Amino acid sequence: MDDSFTLLRGYESTNDSGHIVALDVNEVAPSSWRPQSRIDHINQRGGLAILAHPAWSIGWKDGDVMALQDYRGMEIFNGLTTAAGRTERAIQLWHEALNAKGYANRVWAVASDDSHNPEQMNKGWVMVKTPRLTPNALRRAIESGALYASNGPSFDTIGVMNGSIVASSAEADRIRFIDQDMNIVWEAPAGWADYKPSGLERWVRVEAITADGKTAWSQPFWILPNAPQAQVVPTDTGITVAGNALPGARVDVSDEGQYVGSVVANGQGAFQLAAPPTSDGRHDFWLVATAPWPDKPASNPTLLSYGAG
Ligand SMILES: [Zn+2]
Repeated sequence: MDDSFTLLRGYESTNDSGHIVALDVNEVAPSSWRPQSRIDHINQRGGLAILAHPAWSIGWKDGDVMALQDYRGMEIFNGLTTAAGRTERAIQLWHEALNAKGYANRVWAVASDDSHNPEQMNKGWVMVKTPRLTPNALRRAIESGALYASNGPSFDTIGVMNGSIVASSAEADRIRFIDQDMNIVWEAPAGWADYKPSGLERWVRVEAITADGKTAWSQPFWILPNAPQAQVVPTDTGITVAGNALPGARVDVSDEGQYVGSVVANGQGAFQLAAPPTSDGRHDFWLVATAPWPDKPASNPTLLSYGAG
């Protein structure tokens, strides 16, 4: 075999209760098993489990994508089963899985052929960033999310630069940045597009779309919540720490390492917390915002110094 080509062993576990692609394993789970047992079998043998065509009429039921655990990827495009509308449905399921499982259990989007004969090849694929073309390196890159899915265009650039998500594609017409709730937060011509997250998004993904609707889909870029912005406000009885953070975030406040308290930012992001007086009137407050999402990501800390000295 020449060194421009390599193979990863795998199989598709097919059953009325859902089809699962097993990558990088050399032992097959009994197809009669329930899906979670098949996923567990794949993981226990060191493989990667990918849910196949979750929006197809055969196999997965509503709720499976959310209830199942420890799968690493999900097909959002499948050359054989993705008819009009099903990509949207599969992407909706992917969003639901990402939002429910959070950063620690992120699920990668993949596209595939599902080819049953030669005419069904080159419909969908993934582009993987790997330092070497070996099965091991390829597998590690896929596992870590260093890949994007496509049924047409390629990204020339996809990444993060100076705090912005950047993308370009010579083959595409436009580029869209889409947040966790499917809102298009920015759209630009595909020659170059960049988007600086506001800090209110949970994650943002990128699509490069051709004039005839073919798409490259990035993985999610996960975003830390904004650090709180705050000031010290003197009051009749002492001082109050007041500011803004992500709406609904819990803001924890400490003073020279001593826990002061926590407060939940309101729907506009405003919060205030009364701080106990100290003998010399000096404070070095540290504030951290924890987002109200299932995976509870925390912001970078904000230092707020107050008082004489
Ligand atoms: Zn299948």
